[in-house]
Amino acid sequence: MKYFSTRGGERELSFEETVLTGLAPNGGLYIPVSIPQLPPAWKTEWKDYSFVDLSVAVLSLYISSDEMSQAELRELVIRSYAGFRHPEVTPLVKLSERKYVLELWHGPTWAFKDVALQFLGNLFEFFLKRRNKEKVEHSQPASEKLTVVGATSGDTGSAAIYGLRGKSNISIFILHPKGRVSPIQEAQMTTVTDANVYNLAVKGSVVSQHDFSIRLPFIQDVVKTLFGDSQFNAKHRLGAVNSINWARILAQTVYYFSAYFHARRLLGLSENEETELQFVVPTGNFGDILAGYYAKKMGLPMTGKLGVATNANDILTRFWRTGRYEKMDSSPIAEAAPSMEPAAGSSDGKQATDSSGVKETLSPAMDILVSSNFERLLWYLAFENVPEGEGNRREKAGGTVNEWMLKMKNDGRVEVPTAVLEAARRDFCAERVSDEETLETIRSHYTGTPTYVVDPHTAVGLHAASKMAGQNGPNITQIILSTAHPAKFSEAVSKALQSVPNFSFDKDVMPEEFKGLLQKERRVVDVEKADPELVKKVIESRV
Ligand SMILES: *Cc1c(COP(=O)(O)O)cnc(C)c1O
Repeated sequence: MKYFSTRGGERELSFEETVLTGLAPNGGLYIPVSIPQLPPAWKTEWKDYSFVDLSVAVLSLYISSDEMSQAELRELVIRSYAGFRHPEVTPLVKLSERKYVLELWHGPTWAFKDVALQFLGNLFEFFLKRRNKEKVEHSQPASEKLTVVGATSGDTGSAAIYGLRGKSNISIFILHPKGRVSPIQEAQMTTVTDANVYNLAVKGSVVSQHDFSIRLPFIQDVVKTLFGDSQFNAKHRLGAVNSINWARILAQTVYYFSAYFHARRLLGLSENEETELQFVVPTGNFGDILAGYYAKKMGLPMTGKLGVATNANDILTRFWRTGRYEKMDSSPIAEAAPSMEPAAGSSDGKQATDSSGVKETLSPAMDILVSSNFERLLWYLAFENVPEGEGNRREKAGGTVNEWMLKMKNDGRVEVPTAVLEAARRDFCAERVSDEETLETIRSHYTGTPTYVVDPHTAVGLHAASKMAGQNGPNITQIILSTAHPAKFSEAVSKALQSVPNFSFDKDVMPEEFKGLLQKERRVVDVEKADPELVKKVIESRV
Protein backbone atom coordinates (compact mmCIF):
# COMPACT_ATOMS: atom_id res chain seq x y z
CA MET A 1 0.00 0.00 0.00
CA LYS A 2 1.22 3.47 -0.94
CA TYR A 3 0.17 6.87 0.35
CA PHE A 4 -0.19 10.31 -1.21
CA SER A 5 -0.97 13.87 -0.12
CA THR A 6 -4.51 15.28 0.11
CA ARG A 7 -3.20 18.40 -1.64
CA GLY A 8 -2.09 16.61 -4.76
CA GLY A 9 1.27 15.78 -6.33
CA GLU A 10 2.33 12.57 -7.99
CA ARG A 11 4.60 11.40 -5.23
CA GLU A 12 3.63 8.18 -3.46
CA LEU A 13 5.19 7.12 -0.17
CA SER A 14 5.61 3.76 1.48
CA PHE A 15 3.92 3.18 4.84
CA GLU A 16 7.28 3.65 6.56
CA GLU A 17 7.92 7.01 4.87
CA THR A 18 4.36 8.10 5.61
CA VAL A 19 4.71 7.35 9.30
CA LEU A 20 8.12 9.00 9.63
CA THR A 21 7.12 12.08 7.61
CA GLY A 22 3.84 13.00 9.31
CA LEU A 23 2.76 16.10 7.39
CA ALA A 24 3.33 16.24 3.61
CA PRO A 25 5.73 18.98 2.40
CA ASN A 26 2.85 20.66 0.51
CA GLY A 27 0.89 20.94 3.75
CA GLY A 28 -1.42 18.02 2.97
CA LEU A 29 -2.12 14.88 4.94
CA TYR A 30 -1.29 11.40 3.70
CA ILE A 31 -4.04 8.99 2.72
CA PRO A 32 -3.86 5.49 1.18
CA VAL A 33 -4.06 5.21 -2.64
CA SER A 34 -7.18 3.09 -2.13
CA ILE A 35 -9.27 1.94 0.81
CA PRO A 36 -8.81 -1.83 1.08
CA GLN A 37 -11.95 -3.95 1.15
CA LEU A 38 -12.58 -6.62 3.79
CA PRO A 39 -11.82 -10.19 2.69
CA PRO A 40 -14.98 -12.15 1.68
CA ALA A 41 -15.19 -14.37 4.77
CA TRP A 42 -14.15 -11.70 7.30
CA LYS A 43 -17.35 -11.90 9.31
CA THR A 44 -17.01 -15.57 10.11
CA GLU A 45 -13.24 -15.71 10.24
CA TRP A 46 -12.73 -12.67 12.47
CA LYS A 47 -15.68 -13.03 14.81
CA ASP A 48 -13.80 -14.58 17.72
CA TYR A 49 -10.54 -12.74 17.17
CA SER A 50 -8.79 -11.08 20.11
CA PHE A 51 -7.93 -7.39 19.90
CA VAL A 52 -4.42 -8.34 18.79
CA ASP A 53 -5.72 -10.70 16.08
CA LEU A 54 -8.09 -8.01 14.82
CA SER A 55 -5.30 -5.43 14.78
CA VAL A 56 -3.10 -7.67 12.68
CA ALA A 57 -5.97 -8.50 10.31
CA VAL A 58 -7.00 -4.86 9.79
CA LEU A 59 -3.59 -3.19 9.83
CA SER A 60 -1.99 -5.65 7.45
CA LEU A 61 -4.48 -4.51 4.79
CA TYR A 62 -2.73 -1.11 4.91
CA ILE A 63 0.89 -2.20 5.37
CA SER A 64 2.60 -4.09 2.56
CA SER A 65 4.11 -7.35 3.75
CA ASP A 66 7.45 -6.44 2.18
CA GLU A 67 7.59 -3.47 4.55
CA MET A 68 6.62 -5.47 7.61
CA SER A 69 5.82 -9.15 7.86
CA GLN A 70 2.68 -10.33 9.65
CA ALA A 71 4.90 -11.85 12.36
CA GLU A 72 6.69 -8.53 12.88
CA LEU A 73 3.39 -6.68 12.96
CA ARG A 74 1.93 -9.13 15.45
CA GLU A 75 4.91 -8.82 17.75
CA LEU A 76 4.63 -5.04 17.62
CA VAL A 77 0.89 -5.04 18.29
CA ILE A 78 1.26 -7.43 21.23
CA ARG A 79 3.80 -5.10 22.83
CA SER A 80 1.61 -2.06 22.17
CA TYR A 81 -1.38 -3.41 24.05
CA ALA A 82 0.29 -5.55 26.72
CA GLY A 83 0.16 -2.63 29.17
CA PHE A 84 -3.60 -2.14 28.89
CA ARG A 85 -5.41 -2.94 32.11
CA HIS A 86 -8.39 -4.68 30.46
CA PRO A 87 -7.97 -8.08 28.74
CA GLU A 88 -10.21 -6.94 25.87
CA VAL A 89 -8.17 -3.72 25.50
CA THR A 90 -11.25 -1.66 24.48
CA PRO A 91 -14.24 -3.29 26.23
CA LEU A 92 -17.87 -2.56 25.37
CA VAL A 93 -20.15 -1.75 28.30
CA LYS A 94 -23.94 -1.98 28.16
CA LEU A 95 -25.89 1.01 29.47
CA SER A 96 -29.28 -0.01 28.14
CA GLU A 97 -30.85 -2.33 25.58
CA ARG A 98 -29.78 -0.14 22.66
CA LYS A 99 -26.98 1.95 24.16
CA TYR A 100 -23.39 0.82 24.67
CA VAL A 101 -20.20 2.60 25.65
CA LEU A 102 -16.86 1.66 24.09
CA GLU A 103 -14.26 2.30 26.77
CA LEU A 104 -11.06 3.41 25.08
CA TRP A 105 -9.19 4.52 28.20
CA HIS A 106 -7.69 1.35 29.65
CA GLY A 107 -4.19 2.29 28.52
CA PRO A 108 -1.36 3.80 30.58
CA THR A 109 -2.62 7.42 30.67
CA TRP A 110 -6.32 6.57 30.97
CA ALA A 111 -7.32 8.29 27.71
CA PHE A 112 -8.10 7.06 24.21
CA LYS A 113 -4.97 8.56 22.66
CA ASP A 114 -2.99 5.70 24.20
CA VAL A 115 -4.51 3.23 21.72
CA ALA A 116 -2.77 4.98 18.83
CA LEU A 117 0.31 6.37 20.54
CA GLN A 118 1.40 3.06 22.08
CA PHE A 119 1.40 1.65 18.56
CA LEU A 120 3.03 4.72 16.97
CA GLY A 121 5.93 4.66 19.47
CA ASN A 122 6.67 1.04 18.61
CA LEU A 123 6.44 1.78 14.89
CA PHE A 124 8.94 4.64 15.14
CA GLU A 125 11.34 2.42 17.04
CA PHE A 126 10.92 -0.49 14.62
CA PHE A 127 11.67 1.61 11.51
CA LEU A 128 14.61 3.51 13.06
CA LYS A 129 16.22 0.31 14.31
CA ARG A 130 15.93 -1.29 10.91
CA ARG A 131 17.40 1.75 9.14
CA ASN A 132 20.33 1.81 11.55
CA LYS A 133 20.93 -1.92 11.16
CA GLU A 134 21.10 -1.49 7.38
CA LYS A 135 23.58 1.35 7.81
CA VAL A 136 25.84 -0.72 10.03
CA GLU A 137 25.69 -3.57 7.50
CA HIS A 138 26.92 -1.09 4.88
CA SER A 139 29.70 0.07 7.23
CA GLN A 140 28.05 3.42 7.91
CA PRO A 141 27.58 4.64 11.46
CA ALA A 142 24.08 4.17 12.89
CA SER A 143 22.65 7.67 12.81
CA GLU A 144 18.90 7.59 12.37
CA LYS A 145 17.47 9.27 15.41
CA LEU A 146 14.26 11.10 16.17
CA THR A 147 13.77 13.97 18.57
CA VAL A 148 10.11 14.46 19.35
CA VAL A 149 9.19 17.92 20.60
CA GLY A 150 5.74 19.03 21.66
CA ALA A 151 3.85 21.51 23.82
CA THR A 152 0.91 20.40 25.88
CA SER A 153 -1.36 21.09 28.77
CA GLY A 154 -2.93 17.70 28.86
CA ASP A 155 -3.79 14.46 27.18
CA THR A 156 -1.53 14.36 24.16
CA GLY A 157 1.63 15.07 26.15
CA SER A 158 1.20 12.27 28.63
CA ALA A 159 0.01 9.78 26.01
CA ALA A 160 3.02 10.66 23.80
CA ILE A 161 5.44 10.30 26.72
CA TYR A 162 4.03 6.88 27.58
CA GLY A 163 4.16 5.89 23.91
CA LEU A 164 7.83 6.79 23.53
CA ARG A 165 9.36 6.11 26.95
CA GLY A 166 12.35 3.82 26.82
CA LYS A 167 12.36 3.59 23.01
CA SER A 168 15.78 3.37 21.40
CA ASN A 169 16.95 6.13 19.01
CA ILE A 170 14.14 8.42 20.19
CA SER A 171 14.16 11.30 22.66
CA ILE A 172 11.04 13.15 23.66
CA PHE A 173 10.84 16.71 24.99
CA ILE A 174 7.44 17.84 26.19
CA LEU A 175 6.99 21.45 27.24
CA HIS A 176 4.25 22.34 29.65
CA PRO A 177 3.39 25.67 31.28
CA LYS A 178 4.72 25.45 34.81
CA GLY A 179 1.90 25.37 37.34
CA ARG A 180 -0.85 25.45 34.73
CA VAL A 181 -1.47 21.76 34.16
CA SER A 182 -4.01 19.78 36.18
CA PRO A 183 -2.30 17.91 39.06
CA ILE A 184 -3.12 14.47 37.66
CA GLN A 185 -1.95 15.31 34.13
CA GLU A 186 1.23 16.91 35.49
CA ALA A 187 1.92 13.87 37.65
CA GLN A 188 1.29 11.52 34.72
CA MET A 189 3.88 13.34 32.63
CA THR A 190 6.58 14.13 35.17
CA THR A 191 6.69 10.83 37.05
CA VAL A 192 8.02 9.09 33.95
CA THR A 193 11.73 8.86 34.71
CA ASP A 194 13.05 7.02 31.63
CA ALA A 195 16.33 8.48 30.39
CA ASN A 196 14.89 9.48 26.98
CA VAL A 197 11.97 11.49 28.41
CA TYR A 198 12.32 15.18 29.26
CA ASN A 199 9.58 17.25 30.79
CA LEU A 200 10.27 20.95 30.44
CA ALA A 201 8.29 23.14 32.83
CA VAL A 202 8.32 26.60 31.28
CA LYS A 203 7.85 29.40 33.79
CA GLY A 204 5.47 32.27 33.04
CA SER A 205 3.87 30.68 29.98
CA VAL A 206 0.68 29.16 28.63
CA VAL A 207 0.31 26.50 25.94
CA SER A 208 -1.21 28.51 23.13
CA GLN A 209 -3.88 31.00 22.24
CA HIS A 210 -6.37 28.49 23.60
CA ASP A 211 -5.29 29.45 27.10
CA PHE A 212 -6.72 32.91 26.98
CA SER A 213 -7.26 33.61 30.63
CA ILE A 214 -3.91 35.31 31.03
CA ARG A 215 -1.68 37.04 28.49
CA LEU A 216 1.56 35.12 28.65
CA PRO A 217 3.95 33.79 25.98
CA PHE A 218 2.86 30.60 24.20
CA ILE A 219 5.03 27.49 24.45
CA GLN A 220 3.42 26.29 21.24
CA ASP A 221 5.12 29.23 19.51
CA VAL A 222 8.44 28.12 20.98
CA VAL A 223 7.93 24.67 19.47
CA LYS A 224 6.97 26.22 16.11
CA THR A 225 10.18 28.27 16.14
CA LEU A 226 12.25 25.12 16.68
CA PHE A 227 10.52 23.31 13.81
CA GLY A 228 11.03 26.38 11.61
CA ASP A 229 14.76 26.51 12.36
CA SER A 230 15.93 24.36 9.44
CA GLN A 231 19.46 23.91 10.75
CA PHE A 232 18.35 22.80 14.19
CA ASN A 233 15.55 20.72 12.74
CA ALA A 234 17.84 18.87 10.32
CA LYS A 235 20.51 18.29 12.94
CA HIS A 236 18.14 16.70 15.43
CA ARG A 237 15.49 15.39 13.05
CA LEU A 238 12.58 16.85 14.91
CA GLY A 239 9.40 14.85 14.91
CA ALA A 240 5.86 15.57 16.02
CA VAL A 241 3.29 13.13 17.32
CA ASN A 242 0.21 15.20 16.56
CA SER A 243 -3.04 13.68 15.48
CA ILE A 244 -2.40 14.00 11.74
CA ASN A 245 0.03 11.05 11.66
CA TRP A 246 -1.55 8.36 9.48
CA ALA A 247 -0.57 5.55 11.85
CA ARG A 248 -2.72 7.08 14.57
CA ILE A 249 -5.84 6.99 12.39
CA LEU A 250 -5.04 3.48 11.28
CA ALA A 251 -4.60 2.11 14.81
CA GLN A 252 -7.96 3.60 15.77
CA THR A 253 -9.90 1.75 13.06
CA VAL A 254 -9.39 -1.52 14.93
CA TYR A 255 -11.71 -0.79 17.83
CA TYR A 256 -14.63 -0.16 15.49
CA PHE A 257 -14.26 -3.79 14.42
CA SER A 258 -13.85 -5.10 17.96
CA ALA A 259 -16.93 -3.12 19.06
CA TYR A 260 -18.93 -4.49 16.15
CA PHE A 261 -18.21 -8.11 17.05
CA HIS A 262 -18.66 -7.49 20.76
CA ALA A 263 -22.04 -5.81 20.17
CA ARG A 264 -23.17 -8.74 18.01
CA ARG A 265 -22.34 -11.15 20.81
CA LEU A 266 -24.15 -9.05 23.42
CA LEU A 267 -27.19 -8.69 21.16
CA GLY A 268 -27.18 -12.42 20.47
CA LEU A 269 -27.23 -11.97 16.69
CA SER A 270 -26.92 -15.05 14.53
CA GLU A 271 -24.47 -15.28 11.63
CA ASN A 272 -26.84 -13.82 9.03
CA GLU A 273 -28.52 -11.17 11.16
CA GLU A 274 -27.44 -7.55 11.14
CA THR A 275 -28.54 -4.75 13.41
CA GLU A 276 -28.84 -1.05 12.72
CA LEU A 277 -25.67 0.31 14.25
CA GLN A 278 -24.54 3.85 14.92
CA PHE A 279 -21.23 5.02 16.37
CA VAL A 280 -21.22 8.40 18.13
CA VAL A 281 -17.84 10.03 18.73
CA PRO A 282 -16.81 13.00 20.91
CA THR A 283 -14.86 14.96 18.33
CA GLY A 284 -12.11 17.58 18.26
CA ASN A 285 -9.51 17.11 15.55
CA PHE A 286 -11.64 14.51 13.74
CA GLY A 287 -9.10 11.70 14.10
CA ASP A 288 -11.14 9.28 16.16
CA ILE A 289 -14.27 9.49 14.02
CA LEU A 290 -12.32 9.48 10.75
CA ALA A 291 -11.08 6.02 11.73
CA GLY A 292 -14.74 4.98 11.85
CA TYR A 293 -15.23 6.35 8.33
CA TYR A 294 -12.38 4.18 7.06
CA ALA A 295 -13.89 1.15 8.83
CA LYS A 296 -17.21 1.85 7.13
CA LYS A 297 -15.63 2.32 3.70
CA MET A 298 -13.76 -0.96 4.16
CA GLY A 299 -17.11 -2.67 4.52
CA LEU A 300 -17.94 -2.73 8.24
CA PRO A 301 -21.76 -2.65 8.35
CA MET A 302 -22.95 0.64 9.87
CA THR A 303 -26.44 1.56 8.82
CA GLY A 304 -26.59 4.49 11.22
CA LYS A 305 -24.66 7.61 10.31
CA LEU A 306 -21.42 8.28 12.11
CA GLY A 307 -22.32 10.76 14.82
CA VAL A 308 -20.05 13.76 15.25
CA ALA A 309 -20.45 15.13 18.79
CA THR A 310 -18.91 18.55 19.41
CA ASN A 311 -18.88 20.94 22.35
CA ALA A 312 -19.41 24.70 21.91
CA ASN A 313 -16.43 24.69 19.52
CA ASP A 314 -18.80 23.51 16.87
CA ILE A 315 -17.16 24.19 13.50
CA LEU A 316 -18.02 20.63 12.45
CA THR A 317 -21.64 20.74 13.59
CA ARG A 318 -22.03 24.00 11.68
CA PHE A 319 -20.46 22.41 8.61
CA TRP A 320 -23.06 19.64 8.56
CA ARG A 321 -25.84 22.18 9.01
CA THR A 322 -24.73 24.67 6.38
CA GLY A 323 -21.99 23.30 4.13
CA ARG A 324 -19.76 26.12 5.31
CA TYR A 325 -16.51 25.24 7.03
CA GLU A 326 -15.70 28.44 8.87
CA LYS A 327 -13.78 29.43 11.95
CA MET A 328 -16.19 32.17 13.00
CA ASP A 329 -19.83 31.61 13.29
CA SER A 330 -21.69 33.66 10.68
CA SER A 331 -24.78 31.64 9.90
CA PRO A 332 -28.16 33.00 11.02
CA ILE A 333 -29.08 29.65 12.60
CA ALA A 334 -25.93 29.44 14.59
CA GLU A 335 -26.00 33.09 15.58
CA ALA A 336 -29.00 32.40 17.73
CA ALA A 337 -27.09 29.67 19.49
CA PRO A 338 -25.21 31.47 22.28
CA SER A 339 -28.41 32.50 24.02
CA MET A 340 -29.56 28.88 24.02
CA GLU A 341 -26.36 27.88 25.61
CA PRO A 342 -25.87 28.75 29.27
CA ALA A 343 -22.12 29.04 29.66
CA ALA A 344 -21.12 26.91 32.57
CA GLY A 345 -17.49 27.10 31.60
CA SER A 346 -16.68 30.38 33.27
CA SER A 347 -17.54 32.03 36.54
CA ASP A 348 -19.02 35.25 35.21
CA GLY A 349 -21.72 33.30 33.36
CA LYS A 350 -20.29 34.21 29.98
CA GLN A 351 -18.27 31.69 28.06
CA ALA A 352 -14.65 32.75 27.78
CA THR A 353 -13.55 33.20 24.19
CA ASP A 354 -10.07 34.17 23.11
CA SER A 355 -9.26 36.48 20.24
CA SER A 356 -9.05 33.55 17.82
CA GLY A 357 -12.56 32.36 18.73
CA VAL A 358 -11.79 29.16 20.64
CA LYS A 359 -14.19 28.70 23.54
CA GLU A 360 -13.10 27.34 26.87
CA THR A 361 -15.34 24.38 27.77
CA LEU A 362 -15.56 21.57 30.29
CA SER A 363 -14.33 19.14 27.60
CA PRO A 364 -10.95 20.82 26.87
CA ALA A 365 -9.52 18.05 24.65
CA MET A 366 -12.15 19.07 22.10
CA ASP A 367 -11.54 22.82 22.30
CA ILE A 368 -10.44 23.45 18.73
CA LEU A 369 -11.00 26.12 16.12
CA VAL A 370 -10.47 23.89 13.07
CA SER A 371 -10.21 20.10 12.89
CA SER A 372 -6.93 19.04 11.37
CA ASN A 373 -8.03 15.60 10.17
CA PHE A 374 -11.18 16.94 8.52
CA GLU A 375 -9.02 17.62 5.46
CA ARG A 376 -8.82 13.87 4.90
CA LEU A 377 -12.60 13.59 4.71
CA LEU A 378 -12.73 16.66 2.46
CA TRP A 379 -10.47 14.85 0.01
CA TYR A 380 -12.86 11.88 -0.26
CA LEU A 381 -15.81 14.23 -0.68
CA ALA A 382 -13.98 16.23 -3.36
CA PHE A 383 -13.03 12.99 -5.12
CA GLU A 384 -16.63 11.74 -5.17
CA ASN A 385 -17.62 15.05 -6.71
CA VAL A 386 -15.26 14.75 -9.70
CA PRO A 387 -17.30 13.18 -12.51
CA GLU A 388 -16.33 9.64 -13.43
CA GLY A 389 -14.07 9.41 -16.44
CA GLU A 390 -12.79 12.94 -16.03
CA GLY A 391 -9.05 12.51 -16.49
CA ASN A 392 -6.97 12.23 -13.36
CA ARG A 393 -9.66 12.25 -10.68
CA ARG A 394 -7.20 11.93 -7.84
CA GLU A 395 -5.23 14.95 -8.99
CA LYS A 396 -8.42 16.96 -9.49
CA ALA A 397 -9.56 16.16 -5.94
CA GLY A 398 -6.15 17.23 -4.63
CA GLY A 399 -6.46 20.51 -6.51
CA THR A 400 -9.89 21.15 -5.01
CA VAL A 401 -8.71 20.41 -1.46
CA ASN A 402 -5.76 22.68 -2.03
CA GLU A 403 -8.10 25.51 -3.07
CA TRP A 404 -10.42 24.93 -0.11
CA MET A 405 -7.54 24.94 2.36
CA LEU A 406 -6.08 28.08 0.84
CA LYS A 407 -9.46 29.81 1.17
CA MET A 408 -9.68 28.63 4.73
CA LYS A 409 -6.24 30.04 5.45
CA ASN A 410 -6.93 33.39 3.80
CA ASP A 411 -10.60 33.98 4.63
CA GLY A 412 -11.20 31.67 7.59
CA ARG A 413 -14.06 30.08 5.70
CA VAL A 414 -14.95 27.96 2.72
CA GLU A 415 -18.27 26.78 1.36
CA VAL A 416 -18.53 23.42 -0.40
CA PRO A 417 -20.94 22.74 -3.29
CA THR A 418 -24.36 21.28 -2.42
CA ALA A 419 -23.46 17.87 -3.87
CA VAL A 420 -20.47 17.69 -1.56
CA LEU A 421 -22.56 18.56 1.49
CA GLU A 422 -25.11 15.93 0.49
CA ALA A 423 -22.37 13.33 0.24
CA ALA A 424 -21.10 14.32 3.70
CA ARG A 425 -24.61 13.96 5.09
CA ARG A 426 -24.94 10.42 3.73
CA ASP A 427 -22.25 9.15 6.09
CA PHE A 428 -22.37 11.58 9.03
CA CYS A 429 -24.66 13.57 11.26
CA ALA A 430 -23.57 16.10 13.88
CA GLU A 431 -24.77 17.64 17.13
CA ARG A 432 -23.40 20.29 19.45
CA VAL A 433 -23.58 19.86 23.22
CA SER A 434 -23.31 22.70 25.75
CA ASP A 435 -21.44 22.62 29.07
CA GLU A 436 -24.77 22.68 30.90
CA GLU A 437 -25.93 19.59 28.97
CA THR A 438 -22.56 17.96 29.64
CA LEU A 439 -22.96 18.39 33.41
CA GLU A 440 -26.55 17.18 33.29
CA THR A 441 -25.46 14.08 31.37
CA ILE A 442 -22.74 13.26 33.91
CA ARG A 443 -25.37 13.59 36.66
CA SER A 444 -28.05 11.52 34.98
CA HIS A 445 -25.67 8.63 34.30
CA TYR A 446 -24.35 8.66 37.84
CA THR A 447 -27.82 8.63 39.35
CA GLY A 448 -29.26 6.28 36.71
CA THR A 449 -29.22 2.48 36.45
CA PRO A 450 -26.66 1.13 35.98
CA THR A 451 -24.77 3.86 37.78
CA TYR A 452 -21.93 4.94 35.56
CA VAL A 453 -19.47 7.82 35.94
CA VAL A 454 -18.50 9.46 32.66
CA ASP A 455 -15.89 12.08 31.86
CA PRO A 456 -17.06 15.33 30.22
CA HIS A 457 -15.93 14.29 26.70
CA THR A 458 -17.84 11.03 26.86
CA ALA A 459 -20.80 12.98 28.24
CA VAL A 460 -20.77 15.15 25.11
CA GLY A 461 -20.97 11.93 23.08
CA LEU A 462 -23.78 10.49 25.20
CA HIS A 463 -25.88 13.63 25.00
CA ALA A 464 -25.38 13.98 21.26
CA ALA A 465 -26.33 10.30 20.91
CA SER A 466 -29.64 10.85 22.67
CA LYS A 467 -30.41 13.74 20.30
CA MET A 468 -29.48 11.53 17.33
CA ALA A 469 -31.50 8.56 18.60
CA GLY A 470 -34.65 10.53 17.93
CA GLN A 471 -33.64 11.05 14.31
CA ASN A 472 -33.11 7.33 13.75
CA GLY A 473 -35.62 4.49 13.77
CA PRO A 474 -36.50 2.80 17.07
CA ASN A 475 -34.25 -0.17 16.36
CA ILE A 476 -30.94 1.61 16.20
CA THR A 477 -28.19 0.34 18.48
CA GLN A 478 -25.80 3.12 19.50
CA ILE A 479 -22.18 2.74 20.49
CA ILE A 480 -20.74 5.85 22.11
CA LEU A 481 -16.96 6.10 22.20
CA SER A 482 -15.70 6.87 25.70
CA THR A 483 -12.47 8.82 25.36
CA ALA A 484 -11.21 9.36 28.91
CA HIS A 485 -11.55 8.07 32.45
CA PRO A 486 -13.55 10.52 34.59
CA ALA A 487 -10.77 10.88 37.18
CA LYS A 488 -8.70 12.74 34.57
CA PHE A 489 -11.25 15.54 34.46
CA SER A 490 -12.01 15.97 38.13
CA GLU A 491 -13.13 19.59 37.80
CA ALA A 492 -16.09 18.87 35.54
CA VAL A 493 -17.02 15.61 37.26
CA SER A 494 -16.96 17.19 40.73
CA LYS A 495 -18.92 20.16 39.50
CA ALA A 496 -21.60 17.86 38.11
CA LEU A 497 -21.82 15.54 41.09
CA GLN A 498 -20.98 17.60 44.16
CA SER A 499 -24.63 18.14 45.02
CA VAL A 500 -25.57 14.47 44.70
CA PRO A 501 -26.03 12.98 48.22
CA ASN A 502 -23.24 10.61 49.30
CA PHE A 503 -21.11 11.30 46.23
CA SER A 504 -17.42 10.94 46.95
CA PHE A 505 -14.85 11.63 44.26
CA ASP A 506 -12.24 9.51 46.05
CA LYS A 507 -14.52 6.54 46.49
CA ASP A 508 -16.66 6.72 43.34
CA VAL A 509 -14.21 7.97 40.72
CA MET A 510 -10.53 7.76 41.71
CA PRO A 511 -8.83 4.56 40.60
CA GLU A 512 -6.34 3.06 43.07
CA GLU A 513 -3.56 3.62 40.54
CA PHE A 514 -3.99 7.40 40.65
CA LYS A 515 -3.70 7.68 44.39
CA GLY A 516 0.00 6.89 44.58
CA LEU A 517 0.84 8.88 41.46
CA LEU A 518 0.91 12.29 43.13
CA GLN A 519 3.54 11.09 45.61
CA LYS A 520 5.87 9.43 43.10
CA GLU A 521 9.33 10.71 42.22
CA ARG A 522 9.35 13.32 39.45
CA ARG A 523 11.83 14.42 36.84
CA VAL A 524 11.39 17.93 35.44
CA VAL A 525 13.71 20.47 33.86
CA ASP A 526 12.71 24.01 34.74
CA VAL A 527 13.03 26.55 31.92
CA GLU A 528 13.17 30.17 33.08
CA LYS A 529 11.00 31.60 30.30
CA ALA A 530 9.34 30.77 26.97
CA ASP A 531 12.50 31.41 24.95
CA PRO A 532 13.36 29.12 22.00
CA GLU A 533 17.10 29.56 22.63
CA LEU A 534 16.77 28.29 26.20
CA VAL A 535 14.78 25.27 25.01
CA LYS A 536 17.32 24.56 22.26
CA LYS A 537 20.07 24.56 24.87
CA VAL A 538 18.21 22.00 26.95
CA ILE A 539 17.73 19.77 23.91
CA GLU A 540 21.35 20.11 22.71
CA SER A 541 22.71 19.22 26.12
CA ARG A 542 20.49 16.15 26.53
CA VAL A 543 20.34 14.44 23.13
C1 LIG B 1 -8.18 14.02 21.80
C2 LIG B 1 -9.44 13.77 22.54
C3 LIG B 1 -10.71 13.84 21.92
C4 LIG B 1 -10.89 14.25 20.47
O1 LIG B 1 -10.41 13.31 19.56
P1 LIG B 1 -10.14 13.73 18.04
O2 LIG B 1 -9.51 12.55 17.41
O3 LIG B 1 -9.19 14.91 18.12
O4 LIG B 1 -11.43 14.10 17.44
C5 LIG B 1 -11.83 13.54 22.67
N1 LIG B 1 -11.74 13.23 23.98
C6 LIG B 1 -10.55 13.15 24.62
C7 LIG B 1 -10.52 12.82 26.05
C8 LIG B 1 -9.37 13.42 23.92
O5 LIG B 1 -8.20 13.35 24.56
